[in-house]
Amino acid sequence: MDTYGHFINGREQAALSAATFPVLNPSDGCVVGYAARGDADDVQAVIAAARAAFPVWSGLPVAERERLLLCAADLLEESADQLLDLIIDESGSTMRKAQFEVNYGANLLRAAAGEARRLYGDTFPNDKPHRLSLVIREPLGVVAAISPFNAPLVLLIKMIAFALAAGNTVIAKPSEETPLIAVALARILHAAGLPEGTFNVVTGYGVECGAALVDNPDIDAIAFTGSTQTGMRIAQTAITHMHRMQMELGGNNPLLVLNDVDVVQSAEIAADGAFFHGGQICMSGARIIVEAPLARPFAEALARKADSLYLGDLRDDRTAYGPLINQASLDKVAAHVAEAVATGAELLAGGSIYAGLTYRPTVLWEPNRRSTVWCSETFGPVATVVAARDLDDAIAIANASNYGLSAGVLTNDMRRGLTAARRIKCGAVHVGMHSFQSDALAPVGGMGMSGFGRSGGKYSVEHFTELKWISIELEKS
Ligand code: NAD
Repeated sequence: MDTYGHFINGREQAALSAATFPVLNPSDGCVVGYAARGDADDVQAVIAAARAAFPVWSGLPVAERERLLLCAADLLEESADQLLDLIIDESGSTMRKAQFEVNYGANLLRAAAGEARRLYGDTFPNDKPHRLSLVIREPLGVVAAISPFNAPLVLLIKMIAFALAAGNTVIAKPSEETPLIAVALARILHAAGLPEGTFNVVTGYGVECGAALVDNPDIDAIAFTGSTQTGMRIAQTAITHMHRMQMELGGNNPLLVLNDVDVVQSAEIAADGAFFHGGQICMSGARIIVEAPLARPFAEALARKADSLYLGDLRDDRTAYGPLINQASLDKVAAHVAEAVATGAELLAGGSIYAGLTYRPTVLWEPNRRSTVWCSETFGPVATVVAARDLDDAIAIANASNYGLSAGVLTNDMRRGLTAARRIKCGAVHVGMHSFQSDALAPVGGMGMSGFGRSGGKYSVEHFTELKWISIELEKS
């Protein structure tokens, strides 16, 4: 069984304590490999490496940073076979989802490469005519990127690619459930030619290794993608050091289905939005709000679709999704469903374990609006459906949430679609589609308990750079 080290200064190394921890395959519970168990001493070493590399990386010509990131994208694609196996084994992804991660990861690296050349500044007329004002954009320094388990390759690339393009050096702290893919990514970036210390990985438990990284005055910024609960804890510590923060947190995303759509077709779209990767997607559209009188026929069509989904081998193209990441996640999903049924929801499909950590695609009709499944993020294959009187009511139901990540609106009536898009409180609304969309240049992020800051394209670059005003005294004529 392979043991993976931290990746520091261009080479893999064991934890200073020599401790490791096993990484389990959620499909069968077998050990995929062992990862270095980082602590505060490892964190100090990795920060020193990233800090030392900062003048080298930020000092490269932008065309060179662009070239290296483009080269990394090519190498990522060339390493697809090995990466796909690791993503499937570590995170329980299907082949379809693992392929999305590799393809979209390469896409993100290429988009970021282009941004390296677009670190635009500004000039403006100074109040005093004999002075010239310039505004320039500078990298922040060392960025810590803390990532979740659910899309372990692509969510990490989304944070690090733009930070690197802007001239920062990076320390990645991946989820303890899926640390190995981050080390594999570091090997690829190193092989692409990134200077030593530019991209580093330190692996370990969140409360031990992640917390030590956050509570350190020697980093300059934190990019965090993960649960709202962890994000709040990190923000409390990070603010004591005034670290710049980007918080991409949990969601409880509405899908509005308006009364002009085809029920069966809409149920297919909704099923994809709710059940992709077993609902372990932050933008999963689990809270489905349907205009009466379509609501009940829609819910029944969704239940038929859920019952028809194929669960099986992760490398089989027919397989809809695989296991939840661990026993605690399975227990949480089962508890949410049990509570919903006990408080009045009607179970239209699923509601039980298929095998191992795999939970059946589940559809609940009219859960109590105070039930946990309706009010919080279940992060499992559970879709809830409620009826709305009309568009105003649907929007009001959608907005009665503390979260605000993304939403979908299914309609062929663009006026009503746009009205809904303008009035739903969240970071992104997709009309004619479910709430789970991606685009390398789009500003992705949330409101309320879904976090703050935007990532993607120029919005990431804005986040990972600091503006500086320079004024110059000119000769008086
Ligand atoms: P998590 O919050 O449990 O862990 C995320 C990361 O934080 C891991 O690397 C973990 O080790 C680390 N961590 C945990 N405690 C820490 C601490 N005290 N200090 C520093 N680091 C710590 O999240 P998860 O279960 O891995 O991922 C699922 C969650 O992520 C869901 O809530 C999902 O909605 C969210 N998510 C959000 C987005 C988005 O773009 N908004 C994308 C994907 C996932």
